[in-house]
Amino acid sequence: MKIAVASGKGGTGKTTVSVNIYNTIAKYIDKNVLLVDCDVEEPNDAIFFQNSKLVDTKEVKQLIPQIDTEACTFCKKCAEWCEFNAITIIKKLQFAEINGDLCHSCGACSVACEYGAITEYPQPLGIISHFQTEYGKGLIEGRLEIGSAMQTALIKEVKKEVAGENGSIIFFDAPPGTSCPVVETVSDADYIILVTEPTPFGLHDLKITVELLNDLQKPFGVIVNKAGLGSSEVYDFIEENNIELLGKIPFSKEYAANYASGDILKSITDEIETTYREIAQKLINK
Ligand code: SF4
Ligand code: SF4
Repeated sequence: MKIAVASGKGGTGKTTVSVNIYNTIAKYIDKNVLLVDCDVEEPNDAIFFQNSKLVDTKEVKQLIPQIDTEACTFCKKCAEWCEFNAITIIKKLQFAEINGDLCHSCGACSVACEYGAITEYPQPLGIISHFQTEYGKGLIEGRLEIGSAMQTALIKEVKKEVAGENGSIIFFDAPPGTSCPVVETVSDADYIILVTEPTPFGLHDLKITVELLNDLQKPFGVIVNKAGLGSSEVYDFIEENNIELLGKIPFSKEYAANYASGDILKSITDEIETTYREIAQKLINK
């Protein structure tokens, strides 16, 4: 079973929810569980596993094409084949360039060029690390190369790491928002947990994310974090739209202080731990 944890905006507690649900299942319910940090621009999950051990790390590269302007006839065929508008050809100026930030390494331009003017070179995309955690099968983290805009490409590579994990419960901690990297993360999930907070901002972003998941025809439920703060509008929206409310994580100053020091697993309050156990049980029964 693959479960993605997403939120329409940052700061709702998506990471703490992912970490806590993984830890709760691994500790009390089923050891055969994995956590995958797909928030590749800012992977934070590992910070909260204070006893974790880095067991493996590898560099991931992507092939970026380059044009040899000596061999190029400026015919523009490569630019026509490129679905990502990454290639600029200006015949008058004898100018030919590929924008590495837009290139998705699909290889189409190299196939298109009949003059052997395009060669592909490996460029760093990011690092994939495996951590052993106290309970469960561990954490896999993708960390994007600084300056790279290729989040989606790295997330695809990170997901390949769990391709053979049949029979495991896999949690994908998605990037915040509703853009391509989020779609890539949730695309093959069996169920999605949306994390929100009971504030006008939380509601606004929840609505956008719900729309996205309805378009993708994905089953989902909501966890309201920082419950007890804000207003009832988020709950009204959940009820009016027949959305499954998986649980409410009560706001706690003590918990917020533990979060700030990275200590959320050991110093969890009884009330919050009970809530996570109830949520974990609901997910396992799906
Ligand atoms: S590899 Fe694909 S995305 Fe990159 S420049 Fe060539 S055609 Fe465009
Ligand atoms: S297809 Fe080849 S020859 Fe034509 S513009 Fe592109 S690189 Fe140049």
